[in-house]
Amino acid sequence: MLLRSLTAQTPSRIPLLRPFSTGSGWRTCKNFLSDSPARRPRLYPVGTARHCSSDSDMATKHLDDSHERIFENNRKWVEAMKAEDPEFFVKLGSGQSPEYLYIGCSDSRVPANQIMGLGPGEVFTTRNIANLVPNTDLSVMSVINYAVRHLKVKHIVVCGHYGCGGVKSAMISADLGLLNPWLRNIRDVYRLHEDELDSIPEPQRYDRLVELNVIEQCRNVIKTAAVQQSYEKEGFPVVHGWVFDLNDGLLKDLKVDFEKMLKGIKKLYNLSAAPPTAEEPSASEPLAKRQREE
Ligand SMILES: [Zn+2]
Repeated sequence: MLLRSLTAQTPSRIPLLRPFSTGSGWRTCKNFLSDSPARRPRLYPVGTARHCSSDSDMATKHLDDSHERIFENNRKWVEAMKAEDPEFFVKLGSGQSPEYLYIGCSDSRVPANQIMGLGPGEVFTTRNIANLVPNTDLSVMSVINYAVRHLKVKHIVVCGHYGCGGVKSAMISADLGLLNPWLRNIRDVYRLHEDELDSIPEPQRYDRLVELNVIEQCRNVIKTAAVQQSYEKEGFPVVHGWVFDLNDGLLKDLKVDFEKMLKGIKKLYNLSAAPPTAEEPSASEPLAKRQREE
């Protein structure tokens, strides 16, 4: 069940890779070839008997070919960008000032720049399984801090997607090993909205958990000192919650009421005040004084 939900994002690739691990021989080779007719001559030169001598050879050939293809694609992309704008890479190398921070899912079907229609340099990005913002995750916390305090982003977007394998896995009652602590963040979202979710039939319940997870992660973003202090001083960033629909490619704005959410959060999580200065008494002062005297 877990494997099914986690691999659900790559249905077209599973048959492509399966021949290498199942040892199903020549017949499978033909099936594999039929999946990629455009690359057939290069992968399997006419007149050679080597092409199906073993699954291992075929796997190696496929890995070499797919890796090489990326560099071919890269060279073509460079040429295309230069043709469009000869100064493109000069500008790219001169620095970044993106207006957006995008926090999304690692799912390969949800590429941030493409779905937002933005080019290189226009969106600062971090992605993880199920677009989570746990306050103990140094990676996402560092990204938010850098994006807000140094890049001065104007918008922070948490973007989930329907059909999320991470969210689906969190709905399964099972010990999932290393994934347990990560997915618990989503199970906590379910617990917070248990009454609403339990009243919704499947598959709508799954979709609603995706949305509620996005909203809770927006709340986690707003709990950070960087966001609260920047908004109080500069009037930005504003936090948004979106969901991407894999079936039609459209983004849905969950219309998170940022001002209202910020106000509610500050009741318990207000970090907008600057830290105490050296002149002001602080909790650590008595200890520091004691240490000097010792
Ligand atoms: Zn996902």
